[in-house]
Formats: sequence, structure tokens, C-alpha cells
Amino acid sequence: MFYTSTRDSSIKITSAQAIAKGISDEGGLFVPCEIPCFSAEKIASMVDMSYIDRAKTVLREFLTDFSEEELNYCVEGAYGADKFSSPAIAPIVHIDGAKNILELWHGPTCAFKDMALQLLPYLMTVSAKKTADGKTIVILVATSGDTGKAALEGFKDVDKTKILVFYPVDGVSPMQKLQMVTQEGENVAVCAVKGNFDDAQSAVKSIFTDAEVKRRLAEKNMAFSSANSINWGRLVPQIVYYFSAYCDMIKNGSVKAGDVINAVVPTGNFGNILAAYYAKKMGLPIKKLVCASNSNNVLTDFLCTGVYDKNRRFYTTTSPSMDILISSNLERLLYHIGGNDDNFVKSLMKALSEKGKYEISKELLADIRETFDAGFAAEDEVDETIKSHFEKYGYLCDTHTAVALKVYDEYAKRTGDGTPTVIDSTASPYKFSKSVLTALNGGKSFDSDEFEMADKLFETTKAPIPAPIASLKEKAVRFTNVCGKENMSEMVFELLKI
Ligand SMILES: *Cc1c(COP(=O)(O)O)cnc(C)c1O
Repeated sequence: MFYTSTRDSSIKITSAQAIAKGISDEGGLFVPCEIPCFSAEKIASMVDMSYIDRAKTVLREFLTDFSEEELNYCVEGAYGADKFSSPAIAPIVHIDGAKNILELWHGPTCAFKDMALQLLPYLMTVSAKKTADGKTIVILVATSGDTGKAALEGFKDVDKTKILVFYPVDGVSPMQKLQMVTQEGENVAVCAVKGNFDDAQSAVKSIFTDAEVKRRLAEKNMAFSSANSINWGRLVPQIVYYFSAYCDMIKNGSVKAGDVINAVVPTGNFGNILAAYYAKKMGLPIKKLVCASNSNNVLTDFLCTGVYDKNRRFYTTTSPSMDILISSNLERLLYHIGGNDDNFVKSLMKALSEKGKYEISKELLADIRETFDAGFAAEDEVDETIKSHFEKYGYLCDTHTAVALKVYDEYAKRTGDGTPTVIDSTASPYKFSKSVLTALNGGKSFDSDEFEMADKLFETTKAPIPAPIASLKEKAVRFTNVCGKENMSEMVFELLKI
């Protein structure tokens, strides 16, 4: 199995090279040259497997340059040894009729990013050993909240790596900030940036490509890499849980082997839903993929009209991990749907960077819509969904999951489609206690200490508080650095002590 770039089809590299590099030199994203196919028998054979064995079965097909020992080491390290609070890793909860919630937040940071970021450090260190030269990898992250913590937790004390996380000083939730500044580990550092997420993100991107910075790192035998979802090593672990969900639904009798399902995904950077698309291409019987957005509904418009236009108002919502107007992984879908055409992708991405806008043909849109449906939920609808699902089913969900539930309800009503459906739940409600409490109380706002609000939410709902959140209360703050966005490269040297 080889990988190529969405913007240069002449590239042909191994999975280890794709993972170690992160992004292609000309700015394209790495994609598999062909997509492996699973027969119905092969899928049926996964039903009685553990999550770890299901993961090996899927990953083996994509990481053909990894030995069986290497694959075992990576997968068992990531998903073994009580790293996840649920033995199922990603359990399915049937709440009503066709609605099956896939809970992806039982990892150490209580957001779905753990599903990939627990595995990525293993994939990255094995890849680096194969492709490079004993260099220490420096993971540089700009985060709006969930990725930073999940990456810190994944890379903490991993040999031959260091991780530096920059977050916007006023741009993350109090709980997200607490999770990051109390991070343990000898190879980690966290710094607030005076600016917003875009400022931090652009500064990180320019540090990545700054020749002087790279030279100084190279002198110390270090090199940068990326832990966000442009890295293939973040996407491939996410394919696994769609197979796993299907197997669990066969096991619990929701479907029979071979039956079709739908999947509804609360979407920001298009990574999670793209993983479901790969699962479908591999033979998992998925009928529709429903892309759910919040008020930042650039993807809803694209999937309905074929016009992608980021020139619009940016909303700060109660589902901040989906507040995004440039959805990076859509580039990979455009590459595959467009017939693996690098020139086509290049022209669209050029239009996006120059005009903030592009349009695809009606024929291509029709192809996309054979698989994808889309919708969005406004803020009041998100609140209303949290409240109604708790009252009706006793099921407490976070704001991001509520977006998906609302969009699914509308999809089911509009189409009459009663196919058993997997709805991704991407964060614990306790990461967003304030918003969830406010929603349950019909809009009456809460504003007290994060832990008081978590206790209040527990009193109200009796949903258990995840241990990683409860234990934060006892943890000391380790990082109080703040820097200006123009001083981030100096901060990188300071934190790396070089
Ligand atoms: C990152 C994130 C999303 C969006 O996932 P994408 O793969 O970027 O589409 C949704 N919900 C939560 C809680 C997240 O952290």
C-alpha cells in the first residue's frame, strides 16, 4: 500500500513516510493510492473480536510497511492497559428506534480526539525509526481546546518526542484550559498566546516552514511534525470505530450481518466523517453519511449547492470544536470523488486561498450526494436537543453531540429513512458543564466554578463525572507562560531549551 498527495499524484511513499512527514511539501494531504476492500465474510469475522483485534484487522491493510510486532506494539499500547474507561473502548448506546449513539469520549481527555491521539504517538515513533535517523520529533500544536489536551496526553513521556501546545489566551473553555495547564510529563510544555485561534494557527504554520528555526532544531538533532487531522496517522485510527460500531450492532441485534446503516457525524475539520467515508469505500454497508454542522454551516451549504464559500460571518458557538470555516479534510474527499485528479484539487485549493471560494460541477455534486446528506443546528436548537433528549430518554449529551442528534432528527423527518443509524458522540458533557446545565435549565445561565458546575450537573442528571475531569481539581497548575503571537518562535526555543 502506497500513499500519494492530493496535489501531486506523482508522489508515491509508504505509510511510515506519510505519518512521519504529516503534510506533503507542496501543501497537499497524503491519501492511500488504493482503498482496501473487506468482504462481508471478513466483516462478519470481526464481530467476536475485541476492539484491539478489530483495530489490528483494519490498520494492517493500511500500514503494510509495519511489521506484525510493530502493529501489535502500537495498538496494544494505545487501547490496552486501562487507557479507556470503557472496556468496549467505543461503546454503542441504543436510545430509541433507529438511534444508536457511538460514544467516542471514554479516553483520557474525554473527547473523541483520544481515539486517534492515543495511537498516533506510537505510529509516529515507529514511523520515525523506519524513515529517519534517530531525530527527536517536536510536535507543535495550535489548539482551540480538545486537540491540545489529547495530543499532550498521547505524547506525554513518549521517548524521542517533545510536544509544545499553544492555545489562544481567551479562546478555550475553562475546563479545557485547566486540562492543559495541569498536564504532567517531562517532555511537554503549554503556552497561552495573546490572540485568537487563527493567530496561533498561522504562527505555528509559519514556524513549521521557517528555515532558521528548522536549522536550529536540526543542529540539536530535532525535527517538527504535526498532530492535527491533516496527518494520515490521525485519520486511519478513526476508520476502526465505524467497523467496531457495526460489529457491536450485529452483536446486540440492532442489525443483521449485511444490513445497511447510516452514520451522522458532528463535523468541523471533516476528519471524522471522512474516516466513515473510507469505511464505506472499504465495504462497510453504510447507506448515508450525514454531515452535521453548527451555525458555522459552510459544509451544509457546500453539500447542498456545490459552492464552498468561507466568506461569511464566523460564529463563536457552544460547540467550539466545530467552529471552523476552512475544513481541511474535505480536500481528501474532493480528490477521491474527482477521480484521483490532483490538478482538479490544486485548482480548487488555489481558488479557496485566493478568493475564499470554489464551486464544483452539478454532476460531481450529484455523486457526492449519493453518499452524503447534510444539515446544521442553530444554538437554540442545540440547547433544546440536550434538554429534550435528557427528558425523553434520560440520555445526557454534550453540545457537539446535540448538533448531530438535531440534524439526524431533521434528516429522518425529511426523508422518512428509518435505517438503523450510528450517531457519533464526540465529547463528555462534563467538558462543557456550563452550556449543558444552561440548556437543561431552559436557558437560565450558570456561571460558577467549573467543579461546582460539574457537581451541579451530576446532582441534576446522575450521569457519572469522568475520573480525568474529577481528578483535575487536585492537580497543580504547571504552565503559566503567555506570549505574543509574534514571539512564538522565541518561546519554542525557550521551551525546548535550545
Ligand atoms: C474535533 C471535534 C469535532 C470535529 O471533528 P472533525 O474531525 O474535525 O470534523 C467534533 N466534536 C468534538 C467534541 C471535537 O473535539
